[in-house]
Amino acid sequence: MRIGNLSERLTLFTDLGGVDVEQASAGRFGPDPQAAYERWDEFTQWAAVNQGSGEAKPFDMKDLGAPAPRPRQVFAIGVNYPTHAEESGSDVPDSLLVFTKWPSSFTGPVGNIVLSGDRVDWEAELVAVIGKHADNVAVEQGWDYIAGLTVGQDITNRAVQFRGPFPQWGLGKSFRGFSPSGPWLVTTDEFTDPGDLGIGCTVNGQQMQKARTSSMVFSIPAMVAELSNVVSLEPGDVIFTGTPAGVGVARKPQVFLAPGDELVTSIEGIGELRHRLVSA
Ligand code: ZN
Repeated sequence: MRIGNLSERLTLFTDLGGVDVEQASAGRFGPDPQAAYERWDEFTQWAAVNQGSGEAKPFDMKDLGAPAPRPRQVFAIGVNYPTHAEESGSDVPDSLLVFTKWPSSFTGPVGNIVLSGDRVDWEAELVAVIGKHADNVAVEQGWDYIAGLTVGQDITNRAVQFRGPFPQWGLGKSFRGFSPSGPWLVTTDEFTDPGDLGIGCTVNGQQMQKARTSSMVFSIPAMVAELSNVVSLEPGDVIFTGTPAGVGVARKPQVFLAPGDELVTSIEGIGELRHRLVSA
């Protein structure tokens, strides 16, 4: 099923439109999209039975927000595709490279993003949302802790990321609007193989990234295992899972986003993000 955030209200998306969960459930579930993850099993069981019974209304993609808008924790994984390691001149990591994107940088799947300089870059990423509390999870059980998958962009100001004596990954990737996701969360049962999805992005129609998520160095179950060995993962936590080759900073010559550019990010079986870059 497809679940998301329509005008800050928890919504089920069917082929006919959006079903408001609070109305369709007669108040059993509240309107807050983030709260759904706290009762994920109960919510998805209700939704599986009832998603066709509510009134599906047409909606405007511009009114969609991030499917998990206020996570307690956001994890982002660096250098998680061999092709991106190679273009970055780094070795393929033998353990997870983890940083964060602060949730105040979250935004929805459609709209404008304000450029914070002239070295702002794209990173198409599959985003996973945690569906239940996780401590010391085995790799084999990793998918059981995932509520679903959505499309993300890890937009990055390269000048800030690499300024000073030590990298500033969190800051360079957390300008307002730099963490879009959506258009909705797709539960893992919807995919033939949730570990093998086509991913890519275009800038002004030109293909910049194109890969399959099966080429990740660390799979999503491996991330859940390794992260949960250190920290407790909580329902609604968000993981940006890394980007494949084709980022602008690694190109010769380098390419960065400019005012007026249209960035479209897509993942097979989920949908797309569509953003216009604008000057400050
Ligand atoms: Zn990234």
